[in-house]
Amino acid sequence: MLPDLTSDVAVKFSESRKLTAPEFLNLLKRHEQFYDWLVAFIPVNGYGSNLNDVPEWLRDQLAIVGASPDSNFINTFKKILDSFDIASWVFEEQVKQMSAELQEKFKLGSTLAVGSTYSCEFNGAVWKVPKNEECRVIVFPIGAMLLTQYCSDLIGIHLKFKSSELFLDAYFKAIGYSSSGIERALRIKNSSLRQCEILDKFHFDEVAEQLQLQLHRNAFLGVVDGNDYLRDYYPIPLHGDSRRPGHPLELGRTIVHFVNGFFVRHECAHILLDESNDMPTTSHEVEFAADRIAFSLGITQASTPQEKVCACAGAFIFLSLGRWVEELNDMPEYKSSHPASNERMSRLRIELDNFLELDPTTKDLARSLIDELDWLIQRLWRKSTHLRNSSSNSLISTMQRAVDEKNHAIFLDQVPRWLIFGAPKKLCYRLAVYRCQLENAASTASPTDEVHVKLSILMQIYETAKERTSSNLYDFLMKDYNRQRSQCTRGTNE
Ligand SMILES: [Zn+2]
Repeated sequence: MLPDLTSDVAVKFSESRKLTAPEFLNLLKRHEQFYDWLVAFIPVNGYGSNLNDVPEWLRDQLAIVGASPDSNFINTFKKILDSFDIASWVFEEQVKQMSAELQEKFKLGSTLAVGSTYSCEFNGAVWKVPKNEECRVIVFPIGAMLLTQYCSDLIGIHLKFKSSELFLDAYFKAIGYSSSGIERALRIKNSSLRQCEILDKFHFDEVAEQLQLQLHRNAFLGVVDGNDYLRDYYPIPLHGDSRRPGHPLELGRTIVHFVNGFFVRHECAHILLDESNDMPTTSHEVEFAADRIAFSLGITQASTPQEKVCACAGAFIFLSLGRWVEELNDMPEYKSSHPASNERMSRLRIELDNFLELDPTTKDLARSLIDELDWLIQRLWRKSTHLRNSSSNSLISTMQRAVDEKNHAIFLDQVPRWLIFGAPKKLCYRLAVYRCQLENAASTASPTDEVHVKLSILMQIYETAKERTSSNLYDFLMKDYNRQRSQCTRGTNE
């Protein structure tokens, strides 16, 4: 599904001037609206994410990426997003490994732009610039790019040592890093020293629950914020730092390179398909064809068997995460443009079996790594089943805490957090559903019932938005609320 063309974008379209790819990308990003929302919702020195007082660890990280903190965090944040777009960074890292011909084709400039957007999709999208159709823009939902990172961190913790070595070898080769024998020895030593920590802190069941929470927040609210559970281990020391080999998240940083590799190549494949003469006729067939091209590009551009194997595995991890998100997604209007991930995976299995340019030994190695990952992810899914059966969700549980601790900011402070790391579209929908539930319950509850307190806390969000006359946030919220209100029958809505 392509992002909505909201009225502000549509107005700019009507300008007679042709837009370049980067100009069109800026329209799609709709930064102004996003920051306006964020500023509206930031409680001054609120509970939790205090955006007026940047914590020390974040200051350090900002310094590393070259963004010296402003007196106002929002300005700093805007600067980072403008100058350090994760999607274009990942894109360029992947394109570097393509053939010279493809590198030329995917060179960023006036005819091609790549960036992150605040949509709640798991997949990216390719746009042709209106009135200037030779120009293209590839957008990746910022959440999906970060989600693959955090999930890879979690998945990597319990991968077998042999497979870990395979990923590391392939990654070092891909980025041209020569890992020394000392690093390897350090990795073995540090890994064995960490065994207790792995068994205790990173117990398998705990990792499974964290993965479920991370994916649920994305499916439910479109949110992908940093995993609290892993926070003590961020930032990961850089290459060459003696603390990096054997670090619990070293592997995740490696795996995600291959996961995002498939993600990026899939979008590149759409551009290649569009320019070819044998474009499939149905939208799902186009997606399968893009997967096929992305998959084979991953294998052919790799210079070593290990890289080929990991490129295959990266595609399967990406689609396994997509499948997990699909299982959790219950938004009635949510219709993905892409076919089900399960189907995409079976097609890639067939592709792998029939891929002639891959020698039998490498093919077997790829199959066994994919099988191991599949087994691992299925086990993580089963171990977190109990969390999927509970009716509680982050909106309800955060609200309960705010009421129990008599601190409204606990709930209200989540709104800017959800906005920073998420997609406003899902948030508006969820708030509307929750508001209707509370209104229904309040209509029959006694005046002293806590449901009234909850409703008044929730209504502060709508009131804050209404006061912000320059923003169309209130219209967005009300559109979802009115639709939800007309759908739910009083008292029977759950
Ligand atoms: Zn696609």
